[in-house]
Amino acid sequence: MLTLKHTNLLKTQCLVGLDSEGSDTNELNDGGWVSADSGETIKVTNPFNGETIATVPILSREQVLDAVGVSKKVQPIWANKTADERSALLSKWADLIDAHKEDLARIMTAEQGKPLKESRGEMDYANSYIRWFSAEAKRIYGDTIPAKNSNERIVVLKQPVGVCAAITPWNFPAAMITRKVAPALAAGCTMIVKPASETPLTALALGELALQAGIPKGVLQIVTGKSKVLGEVLTGDERIQKLTFTGSTEVGRTLMAQCADTIKKLSMELGGNAPFIVFEDADLEAAAEGLIAAKYRNAGQTCICANRIYVHRDIKEKFVDIYVKQVAELKVGNGMEEGTDLGPLINQEAVDKAKDLLQSSMEAGATLNAGGRPHEAGDLCCEPPGITDVTQNRDIANTEIFAPITAIMTFDDEADVIQRANDTIFGLAAYFYTNDLARSWRVCEALEYGMVGQNTGAISNAAAPFGGVKQSGFGREGSKYGIEDYVVTKYWCQKIG
Ligand code: ADP
Repeated sequence: MLTLKHTNLLKTQCLVGLDSEGSDTNELNDGGWVSADSGETIKVTNPFNGETIATVPILSREQVLDAVGVSKKVQPIWANKTADERSALLSKWADLIDAHKEDLARIMTAEQGKPLKESRGEMDYANSYIRWFSAEAKRIYGDTIPAKNSNERIVVLKQPVGVCAAITPWNFPAAMITRKVAPALAAGCTMIVKPASETPLTALALGELALQAGIPKGVLQIVTGKSKVLGEVLTGDERIQKLTFTGSTEVGRTLMAQCADTIKKLSMELGGNAPFIVFEDADLEAAAEGLIAAKYRNAGQTCICANRIYVHRDIKEKFVDIYVKQVAELKVGNGMEEGTDLGPLINQEAVDKAKDLLQSSMEAGATLNAGGRPHEAGDLCCEPPGITDVTQNRDIANTEIFAPITAIMTFDDEADVIQRANDTIFGLAAYFYTNDLARSWRVCEALEYGMVGQNTGAISNAAAPFGGVKQSGFGREGSKYGIEDYVVTKYWCQKIG
């Protein structure tokens, strides 16, 4: 049995810089691990068996305000390091994450529930952002622009945006943090992270490794506590210049409104409602495999999960048959056991929502192809069902399902399926399967989404820009575009004679 007992990465305090008297020198060496002033804590539990793994502090408003003060003080000192120095520290951090990958994966599975193989995969994925932005730190280029008058010069500088805050969700406890922290630090920003209360332990372990790598205290701070209290400081404090958020559209909307008073730069990676279209010429075995990858990763709890499946009427029966057979092979259970494909859902609320969605679809005439019951492995485990004949106007087609339920609909022609695929407030990821070249371009261009996967259900990659359109948000994470969210453009006009 895998346990967490042996790991020294299980941190139960917050990582904050401490502002000691007279430390406004170039020394970045004060700070460390703190508990809540009140002594209050949040329990972190294992969703598979409900056991308490650890507790983390409920920091007070004043403690978080102090953290902002440290971030503000340290930021120009960090920005003053050379790009090579920042890059080297990020690389060292990535090396330590690689060296501790197994411990980090176990911590993640314990608090989040996902299978160990997925936690290991997420650690590699999370680390790929640190390596990517370690390299990008050296490529933050400005411009010179031909001026109107011969005695003028126009220069464009890219400078760090300043103090940044990140609020992150529980479904990817490492990757959602590294793809914000790595570009921020690469650009010369400091960062305060508020991880989800369900999964703070992976975040704190990453913070410990950042310290061990030599990233100066105060450059990366990790705070835990009541979301509303922390959120109010991180959105309302004028010393913070940017908020980056990944989570629900509903919370994103609230946070944007809270940031309005101080006009913060924002990046919002919000909810999705991904269509997955299987055209009549598609390779059906490959499409079924792709759908499993896009649907069942993290037990269906990802923002780019395939949510509405549109299958051409002529091939629907055959496709469902292949898909249901492949789904039946998936093993539901304890993520800590090797061989598990689907762990538990994050909490009872998630299970209840899934049950309600399934039930209302069945009442509206949908057919259940498999599963659809609680699984004997654990209270929060669900059998993965495939259901068909869902109609577009049902809850299940309009809600981000966030559970292992596949809602399948049929279509007759391309124009109709594109119209239905776009008929949502969301615009994060979309998938389609076809080998027809002309159709590929037509469909890709017509889909109102930030990311499109063709003949694949796995699109995430640190080299590519991740992000949405419409009410799925704005800003891009990863790729050469990702650094733009952490720099501001300064135009310098010089009269030289
Ligand atoms: P999810 O559905 O993934 O839980 P949420 O949008 O509810 O998405 O939460 C994402 C993150 O936002 C979590 O860290 C959560 O604690 C935080 N959060 C939720 N509500 C607020 C709020 N009012 N202020 C600040 N943070 C919040």
